[in-house]
Amino acid sequence: RAARSGGDRVRAYAPSMGQMFLRRFQLVTQFRQALETGQVSVHYQPKVALPSREVLGVEALVRWVHPEFGRLDPDEFVPAVEAAGLVDALTDFVLDKALVRIRAWMDRGLRIGVAVNLSVRSLANLDFPELVAGALERHRVPPELLTLELTESGVMADPQRALPVLRGLHTLGVVLAVDDFGTGYSSLAYLRQLPVDEVKIDKSFVFGMGSDLGDLAVVRSIVELGHSLGLVVVAEGVEEDTARDQLAAMGCDVAQGYLISRPLSEDRLEAWLRARTAQARGLRDETVLTL
Ligand code: C2E
Ligand code: MG
Ligand code: MG
Ligand code: MG
Repeated sequence: RAARSGGDRVRAYAPSMGQMFLRRFQLVTQFRQALETGQVSVHYQPKVALPSREVLGVEALVRWVHPEFGRLDPDEFVPAVEAAGLVDALTDFVLDKALVRIRAWMDRGLRIGVAVNLSVRSLANLDFPELVAGALERHRVPPELLTLELTESGVMADPQRALPVLRGLHTLGVVLAVDDFGTGYSSLAYLRQLPVDEVKIDKSFVFGMGSDLGDLAVVRSIVELGHSLGLVVVAEGVEEDTARDQLAAMGCDVAQGYLISRPLSEDRLEAWLRARTAQARGLRDETVLTL
């Protein structure tokens, strides 16, 4: 649209540096209040086993509906919140929602795990494992139903610094996942030394694997490497059934992506889970779903 019309028009539509700075400043100063007033919520995206398609868990993804700017993407505000030193409030908020959800499912006899994204800043906080332990206890949730996701670039930025906190979390028994794998300066050798349980292949490779042999090779080698290190391998960004089938054929363990479901509000997730359960009963196939 604006870009196609070319010339100076593009500049007229693009926000100026000053506007961008102002917006970022507003987001950061309004964030705490946004948490308290219900503007911020958590959506959940299902993860399914391959090839059975059994629902294993969901990933918690934060959403902010801003009164002035509308629906904001976490890629816009999470880095700003991190840079302003406010990310602990976000982590607490999402962790609490996640544990409430897990507990509510447990009370209905369901075992569905929730994955929470951590900021690299949490890895520098030596008290973080204790904080997680306290939250698990308060909500009466067993650690194995909580997954904590850390980006590859976050961990690799300073692995020596991250290690004590990773060890502390691992000792608790929570599942540790390396997110966006393949995009950082993958020190594959280093992955072996980290106490992690799961690796998530970055969606950019999964998008490309149907048409680009290079992407396909990256996906295949992460699956193989992951398995040789005893890790569970998850593919994110699964949008097409050809990708899902290719991943299943390679032995990738878990799939997440729009093909299975987009991230859903709590209510819509419940409806989605009910529909899956009904479908599984209809098929009378024990391997399809064990909800
Ligand atoms: P991520 O942890 O790698 O999460 C996966 C992102 O990929 C999500 O974007 C999800 O909506 C998107 N996605 C999943 N499947 C597909 C697909 O098939 N196609 C496409 N096009 N996209 C797909 P989202 O929700 O915008 O989140 C972006 C990033 O923001 C996350 O990447 C994560 O790094 C960060 N983030 C989200 N929530 C939190 C949070 O509570 N705390 C922290 N620290 N970071 C968060
Ligand atoms: Mg993630
Ligand atoms: Mg990711
Ligand atoms: Mg990401």
